[in-house]
Amino acid sequence: MMNKIEHLGIAVKDIESSIYLYEKLLGTSCYKKEEVASEGVITAFFKTSENKIELLGATNPESPIAKFIDKKGEGIHHIAFDVDDIYAEMERLKNEGFQLINEKPKDGADNKLICFLHPKGTNGVLIELCQEKK
Ligand code: ZN
Repeated sequence: MMNKIEHLGIAVKDIESSIYLYEKLLGTSCYKKEEVASEGVITAFFKTSENKIELLGATNPESPIAKFIDKKGEGIHHIAFDVDDIYAEMERLKNEGFQLINEKPKDGADNKLICFLHPKGTNGVLIELCQEKK
């Protein structure tokens, strides 16, 4: 079972100017900026009340974020759901016929284990599962 939406991921061209923009928009400071080198992204996180926003900027032209922006432009990139047990949830979804992009959970930003579902099987929406690392 999936819990609440953990965060929304937004693909941006320029992470620095976008951090500035979202700080103004949300009226709060970015609380964490973290590079995920394996994905070629820099992430920046914001919290408003219960909500969390993750900005994603590419660090190289081969990054999935760079490719996403080339194809679709800037905007909402993924919806992440919090799960208690990512292994069990991946197994459940596989058995339901969903296509997982990652065979095994991998390290994500903000102390999470993560896995993505292929958007082809979810009406074009990239879904991320994330479990807080214990
Ligand atoms: Zn995310």
